[in-house]
Amino acid sequence: MELDVSEVRKDFPILGTKRSGKRLVYLDSAATSQKPSSVIDAVGYYYRNYNANIHRGLYGIAEKATEAYTDSKRLVAKLINAESYRNIVYVRNTTEAINLVALSWANANIKKGDTILITQMEHHSNIVPWQLLAKRKGAKLDYVGLTKGNMLVDMDNYREKLGNNPRLVAFTHVSNVLGVINDAKLMSSLAHKSGAKVLVDGAQSVPHLSVDVKDIDCDFFAFSGHKMLGPAGIGVLYGKEELLEEMPPIFGGGDMIRSVSFDGSTWNELPWKFEAGTANVEGGIGLGAAVEYLNNVGIPRIREHEKKITRYALSKLAEEKVSVYGPGSVKDFESKKAGVLSFNIKGAHPHDVASIFDSEGICIRAGHHCAMPLVNKVIGEPAAARMSFYLYNDEEDVDRAVSTISKVRKILHIS
Ligand code: PMP
Repeated sequence: MELDVSEVRKDFPILGTKRSGKRLVYLDSAATSQKPSSVIDAVGYYYRNYNANIHRGLYGIAEKATEAYTDSKRLVAKLINAESYRNIVYVRNTTEAINLVALSWANANIKKGDTILITQMEHHSNIVPWQLLAKRKGAKLDYVGLTKGNMLVDMDNYREKLGNNPRLVAFTHVSNVLGVINDAKLMSSLAHKSGAKVLVDGAQSVPHLSVDVKDIDCDFFAFSGHKMLGPAGIGVLYGKEELLEEMPPIFGGGDMIRSVSFDGSTWNELPWKFEAGTANVEGGIGLGAAVEYLNNVGIPRIREHEKKITRYALSKLAEEKVSVYGPGSVKDFESKKAGVLSFNIKGAHPHDVASIFDSEGICIRAGHHCAMPLVNKVIGEPAAARMSFYLYNDEEDVDRAVSTISKVRKILHIS
């Protein structure tokens, strides 16, 4: 059944507000998503009714908070088809999840001269932790190139670079600039054949696509709550149990220990071994409510809806003679592109474009999108404008954006 966007919007209080006297059009969900009332209410309900520290109190509301926090992990585990909540480590965001793997598993396993292989389409959060690690260890960081035009991962180049037997391959499931959807299952199986461990950055996939970590067979999978209708400050590292078991914790303190003596400590069981100190309880509870909301609507329905608007937006932008970076042709779009469209209007700086959009009550992103090597070197521009879609956007939003492009040209005297 198709999504009824006007009904969906009623669940998101901010989308009922106006900017510059016009209905707010939010086209920046790749940066962060808006939040439905059920998520806002779950957090408020927790604070009003059972706020307590978890894993500590022996009284009713503390037990309830502990149960709600663990239940949210059960929901997250089910969403990505992980074995159990034991595989779900809560962190602050995707960035922290990737850094955790870099500082723990990779720190223990990557040695001088080893290779870490990533792609040229990574977000800074899947580049910088590996640059830091490579520098510390004397390891090599290598990048898989992209195909010309469509800017997909060049699979020939990937196979060739796997021939150097990297210790770790880390790649994004969906690009936050190009919207490219990588074949994570194929990339993971090829990497495993070459003896590498695999980390997938799922920041842009989990909110929009059905993700099955068992089917992908990755070793680690990272994503953020705030991009999937949940609160900021809560993110997820999924790891295979045997790897999480062997990994040392990176933060020490309360809750992550089984016992502490003057001579040393032993670690708590999974996943708590990696969660030192008081948890982001409201974040976990809010994320659980977000997963429930997504389940009720259905991720496959959201994906179909986003395909439809993306197809519509691509054709409207083509009419306006605005080309989109990456697999922008309608033919390629179905399996290879998510609802993320980066573009430039010839003769206009993207920052000017974004501020003219803002004056029309439309939020888009402009800049390097935390992917400077991709934007500056592969695309070859200092910056780009970006629209990204979610379940609460529709064709009317696209029409508002497209008519603003004409306005941009008029204001900036671009013929
Ligand atoms: N990876 C990708 C592909 C992203 O789009 C983002 C967020 N823009 C991140 C990682 C980092 O996410 P966070 O800032 O929530 O850590």
